[in-house]
Amino acid sequence: MAFEKAERLQKLPPYLFAELDRLKVSARAEGRDIIDLGVGDPDLETAPFIVDELYAKAKIQSNQQYPSGAGMPIFRETVAAWLKKRFGIVMDPHTEIFSCIGAKEAIAHFPLAILNPGDLALIPDPCYPPYKSGTTFAGADYELMPLRKENNYFPDFSLISEESLKRAKVMFLNYPNNPTAACATKEFYREAVALAKKYDFCIASDLAYSEMFFGDEKPLSIFEVDGAMDVAIEFHSHSKTFNMTGWRIGFFCGNAELVAMLGKVKSNIDSGVFQAVQYAAIKAFIEGDEKVKENVAIYKARRDLMVTGLQSLGYELEAPEATFYLWIPVPKGYSSSEFCMKVLEEANVLVTPGNGFGSSGDGFFRIALTVGEDVLQEVLTRFKGMSL
Ligand SMILES: *Cc1c(COP(=O)(O)O)cnc(C)c1O
Repeated sequence: MAFEKAERLQKLPPYLFAELDRLKVSARAEGRDIIDLGVGDPDLETAPFIVDELYAKAKIQSNQQYPSGAGMPIFRETVAAWLKKRFGIVMDPHTEIFSCIGAKEAIAHFPLAILNPGDLALIPDPCYPPYKSGTTFAGADYELMPLRKENNYFPDFSLISEESLKRAKVMFLNYPNNPTAACATKEFYREAVALAKKYDFCIASDLAYSEMFFGDEKPLSIFEVDGAMDVAIEFHSHSKTFNMTGWRIGFFCGNAELVAMLGKVKSNIDSGVFQAVQYAAIKAFIEGDEKVKENVAIYKARRDLMVTGLQSLGYELEAPEATFYLWIPVPKGYSSSEFCMKVLEEANVLVTPGNGFGSSGDGFFRIALTVGEDVLQEVLTRFKGMSL
C-alpha cells in the first residue's frame, strides 16, 4: 500500500538530525570511529537522588494513574517558588504555570493555540526546528528574522515590514540561544515587549538553557521586564539543567490567557506528565543546585579546552557565555555543508552545519560539548590533521 502524506508533512524540511544520524550510521557501518558532536544531548547522568525519588514515587499506586494535565499543585507551587527565587518573578501556580512533556512538546503545540491558517509567525533564523514545524502544522506561515553576529545575534526589528508586524500573531525568541549561544539583555526584551504591545502579537520565549551559563550574569527571563506578563509565554525544561533529556518534563508559564490556551490544546492531545517524574522534577528543583553547579563547571572546562584549542588552529570563535554549544565560522572558501562533510570524511567527527538551522546559519558550524575532555582532545588532534 502507498499512502500519501498529509500536506503538512510534505511541507516540512527534512529533519536535520535525522539526516545527520543517517550519515553517522552509514559511516559507522563502514567501521569508522565517528565522534558525534552533533546533537545537544548531555552525556552526564541524572543525579542519583533524582532517580531515587522516581523509584520511590513510582511505587505509589495513585501515581500510576492518569496525572493531572496541568501538573500536580505541588509541582506548580514548586515551580512558582523556583521562579521567584531564580528570577524574582511572581507567578500564580494555578493559572500561570502548566507542566509539559518536555519543552519541545509545548513549543510545537503552541501554534495550534494561537495561529489560524494564513496567520504569520515571526521566527529567528537560525533556530531550534520546532518553531517552524509547529507553525507549519497549524497551517500558518512564518517570516524569518535573521540573527547576525554583527547584531549580537538579535533580530533587527527595523527590518521587519509594517505589514508583517501587523499580520504577526506570535514572535518566537530563544536566549540563551540554540544554536548561536547568544544571551539576551533587558534592553532587548524591553524592545521586544514594546513591539508586541504596539502590534498586538504575543511572544513565545524559549528558556531551555536558563541554568547553563558560565559567567556571573545569569540569563534573564523575559518576565524580568515590565509588561511582559501582558504578552508573553515562556518555556522551561529540566532536560539541559538537570541532565534529564530522557525524562520528558518541563513547564510553561506567563500570561494566564496564553497558558490556558495552550493548556486546552494539550488536554485534548496528552494526559500530562507521569506523577513520579513530576515528583523527581520537584526534588531536582529543591535539592539540585549543587549538582547544577558541578555540571556547569564540567561544561565550562570543556568549553575552555575547545575554544582555546580551536583558536590555536586558526578558527575564529569567542567563548560563549551560556549553553553547551560552540557556534563557529567555517574556514574561508567553504559552505557550512561542504565543511561539515569534509570534517566527517577526513576527521571522522560529526558536527552540525549551521544552515541546517536556517539559511542565515550558513557560514557556521555548531559543536555540542556533550562528550568528555579526553574525546574533545582527540577531536582537536583530528582537526589539526585536516587539510584546509
Ligand atoms: C533542548 C531544547 C529544548 C527543549 O528540550 P526538551 O527536552 O523538549 O525539554 C527547547 N528549546 C531549545 C532551544 C532546546 O535546545
